[in-house]
Amino acid sequence: MNASTNATTNPAPSRLWIKDPLAVFTANGLDAGGGLVVADGRIAELVPAGGSPAQPCQEAFDAGRHVLLPGLVNTHHHFYQTLTRAWGPVADAPLFPWLKNLYPVWARLTPEDLELAVEVALAELLLSGCTTAADHHYLFPAGLQEAVDVEVAVVRRMGMRATLTRGSMSLGEDDGGLPPRSTVQRADAILADSERVIRAYHEPGDGALVQIALAPCSPFSVTTEIMAESAALAERHDVRLHTHLAETLDEEEFCRQRFGLRTVDYLESVGWLGNRTWLGHGIHFDDAEIARLGAAGTAVAHCPTSNMRLASGTARVLELEDAGVPVGLGVDGSASNDASNMILEARQALYLQRLRYGAQVPVERALGWATRGSAAALGRSDLGQLAPGLQADLALFTLDELRFSGSHDPLAALLLCGADRADRVMVGGRWRVVDGAIPGLDVPALAARHSAAARRLVAGA
Ligand SMILES: [Zn+2]
Repeated sequence: MNASTNATTNPAPSRLWIKDPLAVFTANGLDAGGGLVVADGRIAELVPAGGSPAQPCQEAFDAGRHVLLPGLVNTHHHFYQTLTRAWGPVADAPLFPWLKNLYPVWARLTPEDLELAVEVALAELLLSGCTTAADHHYLFPAGLQEAVDVEVAVVRRMGMRATLTRGSMSLGEDDGGLPPRSTVQRADAILADSERVIRAYHEPGDGALVQIALAPCSPFSVTTEIMAESAALAERHDVRLHTHLAETLDEEEFCRQRFGLRTVDYLESVGWLGNRTWLGHGIHFDDAEIARLGAAGTAVAHCPTSNMRLASGTARVLELEDAGVPVGLGVDGSASNDASNMILEARQALYLQRLRYGAQVPVERALGWATRGSAAALGRSDLGQLAPGLQADLALFTLDELRFSGSHDPLAALLLCGADRADRVMVGGRWRVVDGAIPGLDVPALAARHSAAARRLVAGA
């Protein structure tokens, strides 16, 4: 069968018009007041206000009750931590004691626990309008060596996109690091598994559902050897690099003492100061460091809720962004947020940055971090905006709940009135949330199994 026969015998892909939304945020200034057309998993065209699609559409979805956004993108999480939310012993602790109390609990994590944790985190994210999530998984205790494989299976089942990182910890307590020996791995095991999961799962290019990145955990939990060799491996396979950096002043002090360097100097010394890297938190940078990060194109995952919860500090987001740093948002792990809700995270980011810079920080700028900025942080030019040719990843919110009653500007209402749940979410042209629910997912049954696993994990049984 030649190409022309193919074209005439196969029906044209169905075109769906998401029609006349109540309000729309495109993240790029383009006019989509009349909605947009989805065809073949992508955005085929934007429809200007008052207009209609250039080509006929077979289907239409009336979005007259909906605020339409690009699917939200989460740039930093630790899915497994949904099992240790709001745990009493660390409910009021800053980062280092928080970690030291949690490491022995996390060391008991099993593949079954992780599978439940990933499913819960992804379901929460999806219901909050998130279509792409990055997970920083750095725990590979005995029995959990195939953690990334477990995560890939759940992501595929949920029909979302993810950047799954092969994280690592290699600097145990006895070598001057923070984590206990039971949670660290040898360098050769880390690097071999990093290469294995890249080869097995990383999808390069537009439309990828699963991407792999390499993510040594933090300066105080990995050796310089793992940092440098992960960078070399990432370069060889063209995958991204992720780590926690400049989250707390304790970490800065650790870097000074162990390496004789501030955090950004340390980053540069191990070959990470470039546009392949995105950093979790990025709070404690001075002016010169912000300029260096911007010049290098190194991205930052701003995690406002976690930063407030652990009292880590306030990231200088406007200055970072104005210096050229791509800034995205992350909910961070569920032991320090303790929710996986991307639209609420955009509200938190807006308010925390207003506290720093003033009330003139616009709602649209916070929505931009959650969409276009986050996509840029993950190296995805095919996501995070509404524009022709980009992936049809969409989040639609209604303003029907009591909390929105009396609101005027629909886009502002989304953040200012505290929207926390999407009504419809589309990933690659497929509806993954319909009427505020994930079709086929039994949420009470999942929560029952997940909370039983959480109790077992904490009890050590
Ligand atoms: Zn984190």
